[in-house]
Amino acid sequence: MPGGVGLDIGASKWVLVDQKNPAVQIRGRTADDPIQCLREINAALLDNVGPTVPLGISFPGSLNKEGVVESWPRRPTWVGCQLFEGMPWADPCITLVLDDGICAALGERRRAGEGLDSYLCLTFGTGLGGVAVVDGLPRGSRSGGARTFGHLRVPGVTTPCPCGRQGCLQAVVLGERRDRSTLEELLAGARRGYLSTVVADFVTASGLDGVVLTGGLLGHVPEFADFLLRELTEEFAGTGCDARLSSRPHESALLGSLDLAVAATGGSLDASFDYIRPRRDADRFTERHGRVLQGSVHSCSRRQR
Ligand SMILES: [Zn+2]
Repeated sequence: MPGGVGLDIGASKWVLVDQKNPAVQIRGRTADDPIQCLREINAALLDNVGPTVPLGISFPGSLNKEGVVESWPRRPTWVGCQLFEGMPWADPCITLVLDDGICAALGERRRAGEGLDSYLCLTFGTGLGGVAVVDGLPRGSRSGGARTFGHLRVPGVTTPCPCGRQGCLQAVVLGERRDRSTLEELLAGARRGYLSTVVADFVTASGLDGVVLTGGLLGHVPEFADFLLRELTEEFAGTGCDARLSSRPHESALLGSLDLAVAATGGSLDASFDYIRPRRDADRFTERHGRVLQGSVHSCSRRQR
């Protein structure tokens, strides 16, 4: 299996991990200034990883096909930034970016999802992500509707959501304080949104084998994770479905970004994913890349999507 580097860019911090040395994680703070932050990441890559290594990036905001940030409610100053502009280390031929919820689902396939043919991976962070994994492959959402599971609408509820709609599940459950909510607020939100019932009904009606719970919020508030696990286990009684909790919910997206790095070199992930691959002029890239790497020769022959 080819090596690679995983990068998880979150709202408060970024984390880098090299597949060759997974015990060492390099971390930094996600700044308001995106170019400054991306330059720090670039410097960390230059200092710690050799050239032309596949890179998988987990990113929470929405990006267009050019890699420009279109929305990121927690970091609005990043809107309009081209993700690769400050990161010349990233080789456009062997770099892929994917939604952090899908990366988390990738990361749990060989962990909490082990042994389940199909399941819903729910990610609790700043928002509520949900991705169905079927036969080992995560299924991305269709465009035009709910972008993630958290934007399923609760009928009769008018709580505004940053996405512009009203009554989205994540707005009802997580409230405005999002990942800074207290246990009491989270429990009240889960009950208000009938979270366990909605999730259990979705899983059983879709014929999935169970649900995997993960995301940084569950690491911060483990009592909330235990509550959800208990409620879902009760909901699943007699259905044969399983409710499981990630053992390291902070790291799912980071581990998934490593899987993505492997896919960047031609690995077998679902081609229907909405990957973002850096689009840069290859000659211009090679010139910049060579300069940054102090003259190392680099060729880029694969077609860019
Ligand atoms: Zn919404």
